[in-house]
Amino acid sequence: MSKFWSPFVKDLVPYVPGEQPKMERLVKLNTNENPYGPSPKVLDAIRAELGDNLRLYPDPNADGLKHCIAAYYGVQTNQVFVGNGSDEVLAHIFHALFQQDAPLLFPDISYSFYPVYCGLYRIPFEAVPLDEQFCIKVADYAQPNGGIIFPNPNAPTGCLLPLAMIRQLLEQNRDSVVVVDEAYVDFGGETAIALVNEYPNLLVTQTLSKSRSLAGLRVGLAVGHADLIEALERVKNSFNSYPLDRLALVGAVAAFEDEAYFQQTCQAVINSRQQVVADLQQLGFDVLPSAANFVFARHGERDAAALAAALRERGVIVRHFRQARIKQFLRITIGNDEQNAALRDALTEILA
Ligand code: PMP
Repeated sequence: MSKFWSPFVKDLVPYVPGEQPKMERLVKLNTNENPYGPSPKVLDAIRAELGDNLRLYPDPNADGLKHCIAAYYGVQTNQVFVGNGSDEVLAHIFHALFQQDAPLLFPDISYSFYPVYCGLYRIPFEAVPLDEQFCIKVADYAQPNGGIIFPNPNAPTGCLLPLAMIRQLLEQNRDSVVVVDEAYVDFGGETAIALVNEYPNLLVTQTLSKSRSLAGLRVGLAVGHADLIEALERVKNSFNSYPLDRLALVGAVAAFEDEAYFQQTCQAVINSRQQVVADLQQLGFDVLPSAANFVFARHGERDAAALAAALRERGVIVRHFRQARIKQFLRITIGNDEQNAALRDALTEILA
């Protein structure tokens, strides 16, 4: 702390991202990255962009990328917003839409960046408990609110809320903004983008970090009514004109253009998830049903923090959260065959 700080900074509680270790050869199953590389066409597009053009600013409006996303999802270009990772898109959403008098609602077990943004933008919030199966109960959100946000599938549980339930939630919440954070939707969910033209208060966010293997490129997006998008553009253009650089813009377009690669890698992750669940169950874990590229699992007898530490000693890193309700769970990213086998072998040794 220093006397030079703006006063509110001393009370900020920042988000702590999963570790990005400097050591090589770790089996990294802690931040839900894709085990497969991006499409070769993405790499070609980025290489083609590497040149003298980098002396020029990128398109501040990212029109090419917005056209491409609009065509992909069958919406208008003015219904699309893009940002530097979906975290930045979410930050602008909290700033532009959730600074209301009534509290923002989100699940008690959810993406831990939400309360951090509430702290940054001084947004009142209420954490709504998940039910005993760690699922969202839509009826619990029928109360006055200044907005609602939840990941679907939820993180870190992997639980999917069916589209019919999202529709029900929207029916009971017509006067506040509902944000569905679809960071993991491509691994087994159905996108709520299909509902944006019916509900002008619905905003759907997605990221290229997970299902399109581009966590390092930092591209996220939101789709919704043009009026909601305009609010985001106003905040964005009061903050940074160029959040997406030239490499990110061309890389992201190429990712949406290579549908075959996208389908193939998503399916590979989904297939591996089945195997990982079976392996974990065999080793004595309860595994919550997951529609994401990770599973949330609890061992019948062993302490989760101790298991995470023992895995780390064997070069396998997974994510453990200290929050009381989930402190006996591990969140484990689905890896490639070799990584998943390393996880299984390390656990077999630890539990022997
Ligand atoms: N939403 C959820 C639920 C997430 O788990 C993540 C990844 N940490 C994000 C959004 C943000 O992802 P990114 O900024 O890489 O798009």
